[in-house]
Amino acid sequence: MDLLVRGGIVVTTGGRAQVDVGIDKGRVVQMGGEMSASSEIDASGHFITPGGVDPHVHLTPPTRQADGWKWSDDFESGTRAALAGGITTVGNMSFPDRDETMADAIARDDAEADEFAIADYFLHPVLTHPSEENLASIATLHAEGHTSIKFFLSFPGFDRHVPEFLQAMRMVKQAGGIALIHCEDAAIIDCCCTLLREAGTLTPDYYAEARPLQAEVVSTYRAVGFCETTDCPIYVVHLASARALAACHDGRSRGVPVFVETRPMYLHLTRRRLEDEDGAKYAGAPPLREQSDVDAMWAALAFGNIDTLATDHAPWSLADKLDPALDATNLRQGVADLETSLPMLYSTGVLTGRISLEQFVAVTSTNPAKLFGLYPQKGTLSVGSDADLVIWDEQETRTIDGAAMHSRSDYSPYDGAEVTGWPMVTISRGEVVAEGRDVVGKPGRGCLIRRGPHRAI
Ligand SMILES: [Zn+2]
Repeated sequence: MDLLVRGGIVVTTGGRAQVDVGIDKGRVVQMGGEMSASSEIDASGHFITPGGVDPHVHLTPPTRQADGWKWSDDFESGTRAALAGGITTVGNMSFPDRDETMADAIARDDAEADEFAIADYFLHPVLTHPSEENLASIATLHAEGHTSIKFFLSFPGFDRHVPEFLQAMRMVKQAGGIALIHCEDAAIIDCCCTLLREAGTLTPDYYAEARPLQAEVVSTYRAVGFCETTDCPIYVVHLASARALAACHDGRSRGVPVFVETRPMYLHLTRRRLEDEDGAKYAGAPPLREQSDVDAMWAALAFGNIDTLATDHAPWSLADKLDPALDATNLRQGVADLETSLPMLYSTGVLTGRISLEQFVAVTSTNPAKLFGLYPQKGTLSVGSDADLVIWDEQETRTIDGAAMHSRSDYSPYDGAEVTGWPMVTISRGEVVAEGRDVVGKPGRGCLIRRGPHRAI
């Protein structure tokens, strides 16, 4: 065999055990028992988790930067940040440009990622315009291994095309996929922005009022209703509030196939941060909520009512975020989180006892792998799985400094936070790709993962 990882404590959702892991040609070929390999890593006393699967990132290929898309990471810098943070597979939102179809967007992003990605990746076709051509492509895209679509109830055009989006959901259901839905109501947001303009209250601390709680709540109930109507499994992205969670729970308690993602910001920050002098740097959609919502997110992670933690990694430079030309109605949304997501969940979740290490593995790897058709190739450590794994240094404490991390975003929303528990070695398909802070994997080594059908957790 190529590689033997000796002495570590392997953690899966089913439990943990000290077991040696034998790897050959990129896959796990033996767990436990006698074995020898051409190289060995001593992981004695350290936890080993399956590599993180982050199904929600925005990595802009360099060729699109000129079109006004100014997210600061492409597939190279973004996957470098991911690997340093223990994430070995990312799911990118592939947005069609004007006049492009979903299939065009997938082909373009795949070509970029094939050249630049260091980690493995999969692609979600984003349905911005439910044209006949796009609807007709859903079955083909699924057959080619792109077994999801994403759409936004927050886009101004959504309400003019609800029948077509419902038709798209029926087609996704038919093809065995899952629909990712951004749940914020476009008309409510539009009205709130008008009210803020009329009142002249446009400083960034009003951002949370431009996209208020009720916009998320009604939209989430609506998505659950769409799901119940079409029977298409849905995945509510970046859920932020206790009341939106209740909407999902309402559906789940009746057996409706609703799955829920939250994002690190909603576990670690509250809307008070928007009142800081540089509060605009915390803008995301939905906005940060109250402490009671943060508490609800943690409880839901612990009780299995939230299925995944994904970053929604959408990085900007600090100067772009704090651009004085922006106001509460149009702040740039998103932050860099790929390198910090897992260590912060470990530090503030596992070390504090809020969640178990097994639950950590479920929400950061196994559950997303199942929901998006990657399991058991990704999302677990068992014979036959890809050898994607993270050996942890549970004792290492670092102070977050976004400017010194791998994302090209030059700050982190958690700058100054002390975080204990970092990846010591990250392995992707049997290759050591990160050691400590150093990412040693080469651009272009990442592979497109063609996915199977969605499966429930
Ligand atoms: Zn997103």
